[in-house]
Amino acid sequence: MTGEIFDIKRFAVHDGPGIRATAFLKGCPLNCAWCHNPEGKRPGSEICLLELQCIGCGACAKACPNGALVFDSAPAISRERCIRCGRCAKACPAGAIAAKGMKITAEALVAELSKEEIFFQASGGGITLSGGDPLFQPEFTAETLRLARAKGFHTALETCLYAAPSVLEALLDLPDLWIVDIKLMDEEEHKKKTGRSNAPILKNYERLAASGRPMLTRIPIIPGYTDSIDNLNSIGKYIAATNAKSAAEPMFYNPLAESKYKSYDMEYSLLRAQPYTEEQEDYYRNIITAAGVAVII
Ligand code: SF4
Ligand code: SF4
Repeated sequence: MTGEIFDIKRFAVHDGPGIRATAFLKGCPLNCAWCHNPEGKRPGSEICLLELQCIGCGACAKACPNGALVFDSAPAISRERCIRCGRCAKACPAGAIAAKGMKITAEALVAELSKEEIFFQASGGGITLSGGDPLFQPEFTAETLRLARAKGFHTALETCLYAAPSVLEALLDLPDLWIVDIKLMDEEEHKKKTGRSNAPILKNYERLAASGRPMLTRIPIIPGYTDSIDNLNSIGKYIAATNAKSAAEPMFYNPLAESKYKSYDMEYSLLRAQPYTEEQEDYYRNIITAAGVAVII
């Protein structure tokens, strides 16, 4: 079973309990403006250009088979012409170009993630699948989780839950922890801001809650997108009514993704957004708590 990933994070401490190794899988059905991993949104490699690392040798332009990369004192990629073949990344001696995306078997991925096994045992950690969205590659995700569990690892799965009910059923018992997002309660707003209806997400959320599987609900709090009082109050009430067992973890806007968008020549819609102050963060936490949900700080 082969799938596609774009990164592995080692010694992760925010993707489930303990110290973890997290694999980021390619592909996501949503298109959120605040996504921290824009290189994970679509299948296939994304070509990342880190201008500050460039030593000006011009090898990338010579390697490009499609005339998509021009070198004129600095490299510039025509994203329209680029076929994402990755030859420029292989040719670059300075690591200034990277092709983010690689095929890997589930066995090889679990072997790779197992390298920190000793830390998993000592910390109560394990492996996490994230993305993109792991439900975009359901068979690969299922096989990876099965193999990880067979090795005795704790498994966590981070997902937006936008998937067919059959996908959820097939995966239901495989992660030891489901880490799921609820972004917007209003369906039209959800369509406008993520590109998709939230109806399948909420249906899956309710099924997951009814199953009693351990889960954590994350709420991205993003200026001008999800941070209205109405939205946060509605999400809090929804979680309390549907799944009193799940705590909520607010995920506050973090501007660090901006440079990543630049390196992929992708448009970043939150250019002028400011991070929240501690007082603002407390204010938003209180809205969710007042709706009846325990909030993780
Ligand atoms: S990925 Fe391929 S087509 Fe795109 S710029 Fe690099 S060499 Fe050219
Ligand atoms: S191959 Fe790498 S170092 Fe050389 S010009 Fe291209 S990006 Fe710069």
